[in-house]
Amino acid sequence: MGKRIIGIDLGTTNSLAAVWENGESRLIPNAFGEYLTPSVVSVDDDGTIYVGKAAKERLISYPEKTASVFKRHMGTNKEYFLGKKRYMPEELSAFVLKKLKEDAERYLGEEVEEAIISVPAYFNDMARNATKRAGRLAGLKVERIINEPSAAALAGQKQNPEEDAVVMVFDFGGGTLDVSLVECFDNVIEILAVSGDNQLGGEDFDNMIARYFILRNHLEAEKLSAETFAVIKKSAEKCKRDLTDHKSAEMVVNCAEISAKTEISRKDVTEFCLELFDRMRKPVFRVLMDAKVSADSINNIILVGGSCKMPVVQQYLKHILKRKDIETREPDRMIALGCGVCAGIKERNEDVKDMLLTDICPFSLGVGIANLKYPEVESGLMSFIIPRNSSLPISKEEVYVNAFDNQEILHMNIYQGEAMYTKDNILLGQMQAEIPPKPAGQVACKMRFTYDINGVLEVNMHIPLTGEQKQLVIVNNQLGMTEDDIRKKLEEYEKLKLNPAESDENRYVLEWGERLYMQCSGEFRDEILQRILYFDHVMSQDLYQIPKVRKYLTVFFAYVEKIMETYVNIDSSIFEDEDWYDDEEDEETDREFKGWNEEDDE
Ligand code: ADP
Ligand code: MG
Repeated sequence: MGKRIIGIDLGTTNSLAAVWENGESRLIPNAFGEYLTPSVVSVDDDGTIYVGKAAKERLISYPEKTASVFKRHMGTNKEYFLGKKRYMPEELSAFVLKKLKEDAERYLGEEVEEAIISVPAYFNDMARNATKRAGRLAGLKVERIINEPSAAALAGQKQNPEEDAVVMVFDFGGGTLDVSLVECFDNVIEILAVSGDNQLGGEDFDNMIARYFILRNHLEAEKLSAETFAVIKKSAEKCKRDLTDHKSAEMVVNCAEISAKTEISRKDVTEFCLELFDRMRKPVFRVLMDAKVSADSINNIILVGGSCKMPVVQQYLKHILKRKDIETREPDRMIALGCGVCAGIKERNEDVKDMLLTDICPFSLGVGIANLKYPEVESGLMSFIIPRNSSLPISKEEVYVNAFDNQEILHMNIYQGEAMYTKDNILLGQMQAEIPPKPAGQVACKMRFTYDINGVLEVNMHIPLTGEQKQLVIVNNQLGMTEDDIRKKLEEYEKLKLNPAESDENRYVLEWGERLYMQCSGEFRDEILQRILYFDHVMSQDLYQIPKVRKYLTVFFAYVEKIMETYVNIDSSIFEDEDWYDDEEDEETDREFKGWNEEDDE
């Protein structure tokens, strides 16, 4: 066969590889005969690099030489110091990919040249490109990056190919939560919308359990050594897994520094992790709203990711979506299996070739325009050309005009993000063109954005009056926020807080509006934008009007909030009732029957 293509689920916590073989997607076992390889890298004094299970053990023995959870920082400048050397997140990911490549080559008995790697739908361009670079560093060609929910849906579709359905993919892994709505019909899989929280995962439950344990045993967190802390975290994770099989579990920590134990129940977890459940809920409703699908028209819910094994998570989902039936088969393998299907499609295997996979753009793309109405607000406004959740590939054009009389140069800055001010979004590129002097509004400029399924953005600028045409292709963009930019921004925000004219209440209303702006897409956005801009203006110019305008905004935002809820079709007052957990309903899980933890339970 020659060059093989494998599919890789490069997870925050664990990574898996799969390949298309004999008409089906198969997981590739590692040297231990297991499918899950921990995404952990450790360096020895003599420069040896460990990846996977061995490295995971070293998290405790050599925490300062071991790195984990680096996927969260892909595409940033975060540096990891392991021993004497410095590594970027993409270099650490490359070690994991290289390991999976070697395991696959041993298993297949042939060389693996190419990989299709899945990433959270929420990854921005920088994180996607960092993932591609990681593949190259590992000696793999990476032409195709696939969104994790697309992969899970592909795997789910293979299991029930005859069904036409709207499916919700709820992917709750170690470090990220992704919620997506996918439509499956004939052989087409189309993503309708995605949402998520890239800072929420199983690790947060570990941290909460660890914190609860520290609290209950009256320990002082600051005084514990890094080693002891690592031991506590490991026991916390074990306790969490025990709670998947039993209604309560004992967390025991025995090490040089401390010896303590605490009994923890599922009910306790629902209480001290309330904040995490609350954060889980948000993307679920946002995705329904974006796709304009009501909760009761979902045909099927696919659970993905290790954290979905937790009965409390399953019960919470059933509660907020008001359903009894949720499919819980092999949550931590779905993405890898889907990546394997995708590899089969790319290898042009006969048995999968007529499966069509469309993708969506998980963020909005647009250009900055002048804030003419309120020039005292020192930032351009975002004008969206490709809205979040558009199907890919897509090509869209918008027409802009010169903002000022006799303007000589037209600057067009290209941004990615959902914020209404361009300063809060990521700058992807800049274009400019000379224009003839004319009154404002008389020189048109056509901006065409073409975004393909591999994440390449092509921008075409056309000035009909002069006939000038320019093109910019944004592939490997290294621009965007550096750590330094972020620090500067934080300093700016500090200053903002000192501004006495801004009462907490005004701030709150503005934040509320901005959140709604980010959550809504389409029709509402402009209405919300106009009101926020007006309020911003009133706050700096017309102090007497502030209370009146604020009251008016409060009423309007409450109205928008209400409309958002009707899409979701659920009475939000039920969430204020913290007592959703029903101990009676939660059976002890029968390990054999569920069959998902043969090998990942050490
Ligand atoms: P990722 O995609 O982020 O690598 P996974 O899908 O592998 O994550 O899920 C890893 C998370 O799932 C970890 O936080 C782990 O503790 C949790 N997990 C795995 N198995 C179980 C289980 N049986 N019960 C509860 N949590 C589990
Ligand atoms: Mg995952």
